[in-house]
Amino acid sequence: MATKQLEDRLALLCDDCNTEIFADTNMVMLNDELWKEVSDEHEDSYCDDCIEKRMGRKIEFEDLKPNSGMDFTGIGMILCNAYWANDNRPDIIQKAKDEKGLG
Ligand SMILES: [Zn+2]
Repeated sequence: MATKQLEDRLALLCDDCNTEIFADTNMVMLNDELWKEVSDEHEDSYCDDCIEKRMGRKIEFEDLKPNSGMDFTGIGMILCNAYWANDNRPDIIQKAKDEKGLG
């Protein structure tokens, strides 16, 4: 069924809890080294809650995938991580800004 295939392709679901993952709310990209430890398969996707469950702790700034391109936060965050932290963990952004002397 073409429609079903299209839905499967567009919807990104958490491989642990089946929650739909949205780039601006519950998607977090970890650095490659940590992702290898956390994920069963590199291609897997997990929501922020399940990532933290798998890690056994809260996500911190150092866990996030570093930004190698355009950086609008001034602290080296890729877009989905910046959205996520802004909505869910503003303390991460504040801490990173403090450490970089950006207030
Ligand atoms: Zn999940």
